[in-house]
Amino acid sequence: MNIVEFTCRDIGMDCSFAITGSTDSEIMKKFIDHAESAHNISVLTADVIFKVKKAIKKEAKSRNSDHLSGDNGDPAHVPDPRGD
Ligand SMILES: [Zn+2]
Repeated sequence: MNIVEFTCRDIGMDCSFAITGSTDSEIMKKFIDHAESAHNISVLTADVIFKVKKAIKKEAKSRNSDHLSGDNGDPAHVPDPRGD
């Protein structure tokens, strides 16, 4: 899964509201919601949309880390000795 995080700060707004989502459009949708209720922006300008998309792309790249799981399952799983 590719979770992307976006904050209003990423586009230069003085707001620490963070949005997470797995796709650009999911984040964009949530941001439009937030912009409307928190910033009184009912219509995003092309400039804002461009900045948001750019910020999302940047985040997605910097978070492209591999799974570094060193867990080998359950090596010493002892069955419950209690029985009848
Ligand atoms: Zn905000």
